[in-house]
Amino acid sequence: MPGLIVLLIAISLGLILYFVRSSKERKKIAAYQLPLNATQLLNEHVPFYQKLDAEKKALFTERVRDFLARTRITGISGTQIDDLDRLLVAAGAIIPIFAFTDWRYNNLDEVLVYENSFNMDYHTHANAPDRNILGMVGNGALNRKMLLSKPAIRSGFMDAENGHNTVVHEFAHLIDKADGAVDGVPEYLLSKQYAAPWLKYMHNEIQQMRQFGSDINPYAATNQAEFFAVMSEYFFERPEQLEQNHPELYCLLQKMFTPQPASK
Ligand SMILES: [Zn+2]
Repeated sequence: MPGLIVLLIAISLGLILYFVRSSKERKKIAAYQLPLNATQLLNEHVPFYQKLDAEKKALFTERVRDFLARTRITGISGTQIDDLDRLLVAAGAIIPIFAFTDWRYNNLDEVLVYENSFNMDYHTHANAPDRNILGMVGNGALNRKMLLSKPAIRSGFMDAENGHNTVVHEFAHLIDKADGAVDGVPEYLLSKQYAAPWLKYMHNEIQQMRQFGSDINPYAATNQAEFFAVMSEYFFERPEQLEQNHPELYCLLQKMFTPQPASK
């Protein structure tokens, strides 16, 4: 009997500790504040934000604030990062899931920012071999972390017309990973009825690209996961061009990134 009492006390203490800790965490998140010029910086540097109406801008800014309150952004090996870098990382995180109002990146704790592009050993110096990685979603010891090169963060937003945005690309991988498999099928975004057409489309398009080329970045033909990530960049960077050149693909991506009202 005394054993049972000790167990009950231990469980109660554990629960109290858990609630105190999560209440502290909630308060910390609620108290987090963006820099005073955050909306100005978003307006100047994030074309997606520029196109939103005032109400949506306020929502976007709050999502950016919430993301930064929950996610550490760390410069690696002395890499200096400023408010703009943090805001651009957060903007790239929010853009693909902006239509999903409850979405949070529960599979991410920290974004590591490198001074330059890096190789598989995370070396950034100029003569490091194969130093061509602009970003990646961490695995193994780096699970729950994302790695980004600082110049790639900036250039993805500075040139809105080139269709490349490394931050959006890596967050698309993270969204894809949320269901457990990085396979180009983001099950949380995709209603069941669209999963099969999407798979079929991806498969065919990759074959076509390998055989005949395309205006789509050839890196998309690497595999299904890269196809989804590259197409996410294209969809958010140059939607009009995508709709014109690949209407079926545009339509599938629109169904993915814009939640559909439940059919009756
Ligand atoms: Zn990728």
